[in-house]
Amino acid sequence: MPKVVSRSAVSASSDAISTASSTAALRVYYCICGEFVLVIDKSLSSLPRRKTDKAIIIRSQDGPDAKAQVFKLNADTAEPVLVERTTGGHERQYRFYCTRCQLLIGYQSTPPPVKSGPFLYILNGALSQIQGQVPEDAFDGEQPSEGE
Ligand SMILES: [Zn+2]
Repeated sequence: MPKVVSRSAVSASSDAISTASSTAALRVYYCICGEFVLVIDKSLSSLPRRKTDKAIIIRSQDGPDAKAQVFKLNADTAEPVLVERTTGGHERQYRFYCTRCQLLIGYQSTPPPVKSGPFLYILNGALSQIQGQVPEDAFDGEQPSEGE
């Protein structure tokens, strides 16, 4: 007897589905203003984060031991910003902004377009899976990205 899965609810941390059909389980993320920003084949909450600013790491190019995520980013770009790291040194960030409200969404270390570098970083709490809803972790660790 075939198993019928009719539930459309998104269950938080089950990645079991992705083994069956990873491309079928695309997730859509919105800016807090409701603008569509990102569609990706994996839940952002399941991806690794940077230690420096807790940004979510999206692999945008295949590596020697890892495959790139399938995703599309809908965002504006701007001049690069130089960020000082407490660990020493500076980091150049090419940032992405919401096309509607210009909220900072994420960045990469190489010039546009998206995926020109191996990784894309999404700011912690910048995006929500539900249109018009502020993400749960939006105010999590309220601190400037320069770190302590
Ligand atoms: Zn926005």
